[in-house]
Parts: sequence; C-alpha cells; structure tokens
Amino acid sequence: MPELRTSQHFIGGRWVEPASGEYFESTNPATRQALYRAARGNAADIERAVAAAKKAFEDPGWRDLSQTRRGHLLRRLGDLIAANSEELAHMETEDNGKLLREMRGQLTTLPEYYYYYAGLADKIHGDFIPTSDRQVLNYTAREPLGVIGAITPWNSPLTLTSSKLAPALCAGNTVVIKPSEYTSATVLKLAELALEAGFPPGAVNVVTGFGAEAGQALVDHRDLAKISFTGSTATGSRIAAATASRFIGSTLELGGKSPNIVFEDANIPNAARGVVAGIFAAAGQTCIAGSRVFAHRSVYDELLERVSERAKSIRIGDPLDETTELGPLAFEGQRDKVAGYVDLGRSEGARVLVGGHPADGGLGGYFYEPTILVDVDNSMRVVREEIFGPVLAIMPFDTEEEVVRLANDTEYGLAAGVWTSNLSRAHRMAARLDAGTVWVNTYRAMAPMSPRQGFKASGVGVEHGTETVKEYTRLKSIWINT
Ligand code: NAD
Repeated sequence: MPELRTSQHFIGGRWVEPASGEYFESTNPATRQALYRAARGNAADIERAVAAAKKAFEDPGWRDLSQTRRGHLLRRLGDLIAANSEELAHMETEDNGKLLREMRGQLTTLPEYYYYYAGLADKIHGDFIPTSDRQVLNYTAREPLGVIGAITPWNSPLTLTSSKLAPALCAGNTVVIKPSEYTSATVLKLAELALEAGFPPGAVNVVTGFGAEAGQALVDHRDLAKISFTGSTATGSRIAAATASRFIGSTLELGGKSPNIVFEDANIPNAARGVVAGIFAAAGQTCIAGSRVFAHRSVYDELLERVSERAKSIRIGDPLDETTELGPLAFEGQRDKVAGYVDLGRSEGARVLVGGHPADGGLGGYFYEPTILVDVDNSMRVVREEIFGPVLAIMPFDTEEEVVRLANDTEYGLAAGVWTSNLSRAHRMAARLDAGTVWVNTYRAMAPMSPRQGFKASGVGVEHGTETVKEYTRLKSIWINT
C-alpha cells in the first residue's frame, strides 16, 4: 500500500505544517478509498495566515500596486488555470465525485472568471460630486477592505472559491481561504497557481480543516475586514450574527429549494430535459437544484412520464468514465442524509415513483439512485427542506396565480425556472417569483458577468458581475476647501 500524499496549509507563499501536527484523511467518494491527508487547521494556523495576508496587503503594498498590474496578474492566473485544467478537473472529480465530463465543462469557463475581473481591475474608481458650495471640492474613492476570509463548501470548490477570490483580488484585497474539509485539494492548487502567476506571497492563503475549528477561528479573527461565505443557511446564519456584532461585512451565498415550473404551453420535451438537468446534474448537489417541480395539471402526466423514463435510464457509475451520467454523493454523511430524507418522505405519505435506494455505482461508493417523489405537497419537509441530492418532488397545479403562491411558499429564494411559450407570461412570472435568478426555457445558465444573489434565507450580497467588486471595497468621501 503506497503511503498517502500529505498536504499542508499554504500560507505566505509556502507550504506550512499545521500547528497541531495533525492531519485528516480525504476520501474518494466513488471508491471510498483514502486520497490524501490534509492539514487540520486551528486558531494558531489562522493567526499565521491572517498575519501573512495582512503583511501582503500593507507591505510590500499589494494595496498600492497599480490596478493595471493587478489585472495583469489575474489574467495570468486565468491562463495558468487553463493550462492546468486537465489536472484540476481530475483532482476535483476524485475529491468530490463530480463527473469528469462536468468538471471539464466547468474548467473551460473557469478562466473567464479571472479574465472578467482582470478587465475590471483598472476600472475601479470614485466620482467627482458637484455640490452647491463651489468653494469646496468633494470626491469619492473606492478603497480595498483588507484581509478577506473566504469559506467555501464541497460541492463546487474551484468555481465557488473563484467567485470570491477573483473579485476580492481585483479590488486590491488579500485573502485567507478555508475550503471544505471534504475537498481541500483543488483550492490548495489554486493558491499555488496564484503564486506562480506572480501574486505576492500572502496574497492568497489556504488553511484547511474543519468548520468548527479553522472556520470558526477565521470568522472570529479580529483583523478580518469581511467574510465571504458559501454554504448552508444554518452556518451562514451563525456567521451573519458574528460579523454583524463586529460591524464587518459579509457576503452569504446559502441554500435553496428552487421551483421549476412547467406550463401547459411549454415545449414539453425541452421542459423535461430541463427538469432532469435541473435536479440530477452533480447528483443534485447544487445550491440551484430545481428540486421542486410544478407541472400544469394538463401536462403533468406527460411530463412525469418523460422525466421518469429519463431518470430510470440515467447511468450511475465511475465519475471518471465519460459515459457516466450520475456520480456519487460527496461523502458518506451526505449519502445518508439523502437516504434519510427519502425515508422521511415515505413516512410523510409521499410515493417513491422512481429510485429511492442507495447504490454502489459498481465501485462501492456513496451513490444514490435518481429519485422522484409524487403525491407530495408544500406541507411536507421533503418539499420544504434542502436535501442536496438527486431527489425531485413533482406536483400538479391549475392556475398561474396558484403556482406563484406555491413556488414562493418557501424560506428560500435562490433560483427558479419557468417553461412556457407565452412571452407575456414569461415576463409576469419573472417579476413575481421571489428568487434572485429566474431562468425561462433554460436552467442553470451562469456567467461571471451576470450578478447572482440569493433572496430570503438563500443569502445576502451579490456574487459575479460588477456589483460584487463594490462589496470588496469601501467608499470614502473626501472634502477639500479650495
Ligand atoms: P456547510 O455550511 O456545512 O459548510 C460550508 C463551509 O463552512 C465549510 O468550509 C465548513 O467547514 C465551514 N463551516 C462549517 N461550520 C462553520 C463555522 N461554525 N464557522 C465557520 N465555518 C464553518 O455547507 P456545505 O455542506 O459544505 O455546503 C452545502 C451548502 O452550501 C448547501 O446548503 C448549498 O445550498 C450551499 N451552497 C450555496 C451556494 C450559493 O451560491 N448560494 C453554492 C453552493 C452551495
């Protein structure tokens, strides 16, 4: 048995032993085999990382580096990601079980995140403000915040980390990242590539470890200017309380239970494909999963038949195999959580039309069958709570009024899908749905240029687009008596 690879923290541009001397195993969820041992971070490691980030921010002056140069470095990082895309795709597939096919797709667009913010780096500026007093000149400046703490989940480590890292660096901040304990590998590689691109040591630091230890220590650190968090609503709520009490900002990208609504005038084969991709991509482990489907009663049977037939034919197996369509859940606890929710659905009176069992994907991993629940309604926990797995609840509706009410009857407000050929209805629905992103006749479209925000318990603050850069700066107003 070859010895497991060990990864340390990445602090101040160097690999650093954890202060505790302890490591924990990360496992390939498709095979259950141990992949590598990651450093178990604690408050002492966070202390070192924040100090390194603070030093890089203040001296030798990342904050004062020309904006053109910052943009240049971001572009180089994008190029390096592109050059290493095959290795990154394999690493993340092995670490969290996402299909290699999906990872290759993600890696083709990931450099765009860096190119987009590279282009914005030299367009961050304040304004001249004319006031009624001609004697006094007033102008504003946009300043970087300082050290940003970025805490990310396991379901899409590279993309979700880049959504924070690229705009934070673009605005002149330095960053300490605490990736999920289940998926440290690609985030560490990203930090290494940032150094190679020419970012100063300490501009990008990674402390690996558990939420309650390294994550909590990062949130509590007195020198942090902001926390940018993506993860569950429960953790986000705790972080919101901690940051609010210290008057520092937070961007929170949280959970979802998104509705996908199919009207009678929709192209039903297209809608069925959208429903399947909406819930079963990444084995349902996406915040935007279309986990609640509302189908107009007149097309309910046809849609259900198409979606069920497709769900039954989905090929479960090795995520490295190009022909596989559904990989594993990311770890054992997540597989058990999904199984627990399906059992709960049964006890609540739901009927399992398709799936409903764990699977081993031929590799002994943490797989779960694509599952469709019917005879469900909004009073059931399986319809109200985020399952974060390949489990779809599908319900009929009769009127537009009714479906707006049903779709909005949730604590979440992340995303929604609408399938219709009626343009007026599309606009009406887009306006009335309480969700930060609304897709019409498509699902999952996303780009670094397009802002996204979770409404209600799905989050606070904007990611992507130009808006997010503002969230990584502070606005200063300067008055000069001429
Ligand atoms: P999680 O909240 O359990 O963990 C997220 C991160 O927070 C991890 O790095 C974890 O170690 C850390 N953490 C946990 N407790 C902490 C604490 N007390 N203090 C500081 N850090 C702590 O979430 P998860 O299970 O890793 O991710 C799945 C969730 O993420 C789902 O709810 C999903 O919807 C959400 N998500 C949201 C988006 C979005 O853009 N809205 C995107 C992807 C995932």
